[in-house]
Amino acid sequence: MARIRKGDTVTVLSGKDRGKAGKVLRVWPEEGRALVERINLVRHFERRSQQHPSGGIVEREGALAISKLAPICPTCRGPSRAGWLVSPDGGKQRICRRCKGILG
Ligand SMILES: [Zn+2]
Repeated sequence: MARIRKGDTVTVLSGKDRGKAGKVLRVWPEEGRALVERINLVRHFERRSQQHPSGGIVEREGALAISKLAPICPTCRGPSRAGWLVSPDGGKQRICRRCKGILG
């Protein structure tokens, strides 16, 4: 199971977008990469098409390494290191290592 999931709000720990936060749009757990809303924008040149009637430069999110991201804990409102809590029935829940709150 990945530390980061789609729909999480995460903060960026390093790189040019360090300190910024956004919502996770997509995760590729095998590759250890994720796409975060408005983070790591990369410019693409689009040809005029039906999807992009005016063509030109569009900005798109580029994938980032999951290791550079930390989930924001809704309880202590800070970037947290996610840990795992194994329940007696064998299920796993993500918890914040700082406040022990459930991250979901
Ligand atoms: Zn917390």
